[in-house]
Formats: sequence, C-alpha cells, structure tokens
Amino acid sequence: MVQQSIKKIVVVGGGTAGWMAASGLAKFLEGSGTRIDVIESSSIGTVGVGEATIPTIVGFNQYLGLDEPDFMRRTQATFKLGIRFDDWAGPGSSFLHPFANYGVPLNGIPFQNMWLRARLAGDDTPMADYCLPSVLARTGRFALPPPDNTNPLGEFGYAYQFDATLYAGYLREYAERRGVQCKDARVLEVNVRSGDGFVESLSLDSGECIEGDLFVDCSGFRSLLVGQCLEAGFEDWSHWLPANRALAVQSELVEPPEPFTRSITREAGWQWHIPLQHRVGNGYVFCSEYQEEEQARETLLKNIAGNPLGEPRLLSFQTGMREVFWKKNCVALGLAAGFMEPLESTSIALIQAGIRLLQAFYPSHGFRQCDIDEANRQGREIYEQMRDFLILHYKLNRRVGDAFWDDCRGMDIPDALAHKLAVYQSRAYLVEYGTEPFKDGSWLSMYAGFGVEPESFDSRANHMSETDLRKSLDQMKTIISNAANLAPVHASFLQGYCQGK
Ligand SMILES: Cc1cc2nc3c(=O)[nH]c(=O)nc-3n(C[C@H](O)[C@H](O)[C@H](O)COP(=O)(O)OP(=O)(O)OC[C@H]3O[C@@H](n4cnc5c(N)ncnc54)[C@H](O)[C@@H]3O)c2cc1C
Repeated sequence: MVQQSIKKIVVVGGGTAGWMAASGLAKFLEGSGTRIDVIESSSIGTVGVGEATIPTIVGFNQYLGLDEPDFMRRTQATFKLGIRFDDWAGPGSSFLHPFANYGVPLNGIPFQNMWLRARLAGDDTPMADYCLPSVLARTGRFALPPPDNTNPLGEFGYAYQFDATLYAGYLREYAERRGVQCKDARVLEVNVRSGDGFVESLSLDSGECIEGDLFVDCSGFRSLLVGQCLEAGFEDWSHWLPANRALAVQSELVEPPEPFTRSITREAGWQWHIPLQHRVGNGYVFCSEYQEEEQARETLLKNIAGNPLGEPRLLSFQTGMREVFWKKNCVALGLAAGFMEPLESTSIALIQAGIRLLQAFYPSHGFRQCDIDEANRQGREIYEQMRDFLILHYKLNRRVGDAFWDDCRGMDIPDALAHKLAVYQSRAYLVEYGTEPFKDGSWLSMYAGFGVEPESFDSRANHMSETDLRKSLDQMKTIISNAANLAPVHASFLQGYCQGK
C-alpha cells in the first residue's frame, strides 16, 4: 500500500504517453484516494503516429488487466513477430529481427558458435531457420506462444501493431473508469513556487488554475514543464541518428496483414509499413540534409501498395533525450522526454520504462534527490542502450552509393557499441551490459542479417563431434518447422481471436 504525501497528480497531455501514464498511475494508486487529472488540448492535438510496438507492451497491458482480444478488436491491432529489414544489407536483401533467440545452446555453448562451426563445414542453412518467429513470419503465420512451454525452441515474444489514436482512447476509458478526470484546455502558464522551484500549478486558457503535488509532462515535443519551464537541457544525438523528418500516410489494406512491421531503405532514410486490421500505416523517415521534402513525398507515395487515405503529413524532430527526465516534482514521459526515431518501435516501450521508474521511485514520503537521481540514471541507461542498438543498423548498412547511407557507414559510433561490435567480430561473443532492452537474439539478428563475419568463434564449439552437431542442428530445425506448419495464417488467427469490424 502506497502512503500518500502526494494528494494530486496532474498529467499534461492526452496522447499515448498521457493516457498510458494516467492508466498506469490509476492502477498503481488504486484505493489510495490520490486524484489524477489529465489536461489535454484538442486544439493542439496529438502526434497521431506510433503504431508499432515491441513485446514490453504485452506486459503493460497485462499489468492493467486488459483483455487481449477486446483490446485488439478495439484498436484494430494485428500481431507483430518482429521487424523485417528490406534492402538494408544491400539491394534485394531481407532479414527479420524477431523477438526471440536463435536455436538453443549446445553443451552450454551459445548457439551462434555451433551455427558458425557448421557453416565452416559447408552448411549454408540460414540462422533464421533456427528461430520459430522468423519461420512463422516468412510463411505469414501466427500462433500465440504456449503459456506453459517446456521447449525453449517454442519460446518467443510478440508485440502489436495498432491504431495509436484508438489505443489512447481505449486507455482513456480505462483511466476514467478508475476516477481519472480529464479537461480539454490549453496550458498557458506553468507556475513555479518561489524557494524550491517546484511546479505548483498550471494556468489554463479556460481561466482555471490547476494545482498539483506531482506533474507528469506528456506534452509531446513541446516538453512544456520539464523542458521549457524547468529547463532540463536536450542532448542532441543527430550525429548518430541523423534522420529528422517523417512523412506519414495511411493507406488501404490490399493484402492480408503480415505479422510483422517492414522497414525498407530509401535514398535518404527508410520507409515503414505497418499493417493493421483495417488499414496500413506508412511513413518515410528521412534526413532533410540529404533529400528535399517534395522528393521524399514522391518516394513515399510511389512505394505504397494501396490507395493513400489522405495527404502525407510532415513531422519534424530531432533525435536525442532530455538530460534528465525527472526534475523536481515533474516527470517527462513520451516525446517530452526524448525521441530516437521509430526504427525499432522503441518510443512506447520508453514511455513504459518511464512509468515503471516513476512507480519504483514514487515520492510517497516526499521528493528525495537521491531517488530522483537514481531514476534518471536508470532512465538514461535504457535510452542509451536503445540508441546504440539503433545506431548499429545505420553503421552496418550496405546500401552503397547514396550519400546518406555512405555517411552513416562511415560515422564514428559510441565506445560501448564499438566495443560490442568488435568483440562479436573477433569471436562471435555477444556482450551484454546489464539488463538491456534488446537481448542476445536481437543483436544476433543484426549481425547475421548484415552479414558480419566473426574472425573466430568459441573454441569449445569444436568439442562436439561433427555427427552430433549435425544431428542437434537438424533436430532444432525440424522442431521449429513442424511447429510453424501447425500455426494458422495470421489473418485467420486474427479472425478467430479478435476480428474488428
Ligand atoms: C514519425 C514518427 C513515428 C513514430 N512511430 C512510432 C512507432 O511505430 N512506435 C512507437 O512506439 N512510437 C512511435 N513514435 C513515437 C510515438 O508517436 C510517441 O511516443 C507517442 O505517440 C507518444 O506521444 P506523446 O503522447 O508523448 O505526444 P503527443 O502525441 O504529441 O501528445 C502530446 C499531448 O500534449 C498535449 N499538449 C501539448 N501542449 C499542450 C498545452 N499547452 N496545453 C494542453 N495540452 C497540451 C497535446 O494536446 C497532446 O494531447 C513515432 C513518432 C514519430 C514522430
């Protein structure tokens, strides 16, 4: 039971971050009597994109107690087994980043070493054949991982592709049912208490003044409280993640929705393809220093399968993060805290990470600087680890001849990432720093997908006889292919599980 020194929480913003925060806090503080208000402005609106997620979202929805089929029906969601990267490793190339591991260790030796040894002996089986979601995705199939799985080859994570606006609305209903109050008004002034500099109230265009003990800044790129008012600086990462524009447009669904998101390289960036039950989300993320908006618009429109449902919408951004996401009595979540571009669908997961940290360091007995510092330290760690995973994609790209891509390949990368990459190149070893958001399987999918060739591998992989190795690998492949063949195609699974209207 949480003790209450916080009587009132004010969430500024009613986008995905605002409603995730309000729902997460309403659940966390259930029965405590804490009042939660959300202030949003319909005249400003939300960013309205953010449709692809990673598996952490499943845990968040479960924490709230949402019914999965109902949530999927209401948000027109599809399942997501991973992201398919087309043309990133050269023209015509394609590989999936699945939310899973590859194979299983043999005699305690990580799988990639055994695979490399077999390859050296002439076996050209792609690593993807040893990963159930990769095989499912290749054949357009989907089934939920068995909850009581005893075979690690059948274990995998999954996520959703959903309509972000519908998701925010769904969470709003959830939060309002738990007493959260919402006000449609524009915040004109953030009022700071003299003495300690804490935010004490917000002046609204309705003439009201809303007081609070804790403020959650979900005001989007504006970062009204933590950025603008409390002046938490912004750390610019555009030298590593140079994309700064996106053109987004929805289109008609002209083929059954695939159980994965697609990312396809274009001249100065990459295009996303996110199939929902009722339409497709498309967008072109690019760098304005390498391509004009008009040209980018043409590129996007000529590479969309169904008819566009409207005009492409331009979004401008700068990649990076606030130096701290928690300052005094204000916590920034979502775009107000930072943005790394949508390449690996990390933003919603970062909102969740922020909510988790707010709960873990909840100021039930007052605001202590040591708690705030620790939350900020952990928050930064997650951001930096995700950032490095994204940078890896650009660094390893093999799209030769386009200035944007050539420059990305040539850029200097952060030391921690350079070390990771070097150790893999040296001996196929996967370095992991603490509890990283992207696990071994994710890193391996990148190394294998981009064709990174390690100079050697764990010498213990040679201790197994060639016959035993062959037999074990064949067994893994067969188990996976049999399991995949039993799964229905994704569209049929959706139909039976949660079909939207
Ligand atoms: C091009 C692009 C693609 C993306 N794709 C993905 C993806 O696939 N997956 C993913 O996880 N994330 C993605 N994201 C990120 C994702 O969209 C955001 O993380 C998510 O939507 C949360 O946004 P938000 O709630 O922080 O901000 P917003 O949606 O911008 O909401 C801000 C809220 O603050 C309110 N507000 C602002 N100023 C005031 C004021 N003065 N007074 C009152 N209210 C105010 C607004 O009205 C609004 O309600 C993408 C982002 C971009 C830019």
